[in-house]
Amino acid sequence: MSPKVYRFTCIVCPLGCTLEVEIENGKVKGYTCPKGKEWAIEEVTNPKRVVMSVIKVKNGKLPTVSVKTDKPIPKAKIPELMKLLADLEVEGPVKVGQVILENPLGLDTKIVATREA
Ligand code: SF4
Repeated sequence: MSPKVYRFTCIVCPLGCTLEVEIENGKVKGYTCPKGKEWAIEEVTNPKRVVMSVIKVKNGKLPTVSVKTDKPIPKAKIPELMKLLADLEVEGPVKVGQVILENPLGLDTKIVATREA
């Protein structure tokens, strides 16, 4: 049986190289730098994404504030994190860049406000 091959565009830099990853032996083709190779292997074995959401604000300028993780988290954890954020309420006013929550669900990330509220 031939190995499964994943084809996708690298998003690490604007060059957007086309990468081919063979899952059977971790072989990666099409990258032009080590960062692309590292990302491609991670994308196949443990894909991660930056999460953006909105949380409630109490006594703020606005009733909600947009937030995001300060780094990508495993895709498998996104539903649980979204539920946590949906139940969260922060005391206003909120500043841009304010850390709302550190290491939610034990993840190595911070929830950061992306606007004032
Ligand atoms: S493989 Fe390297 S050069 Fe190509 S898009 Fe990815 S990071 Fe950029």
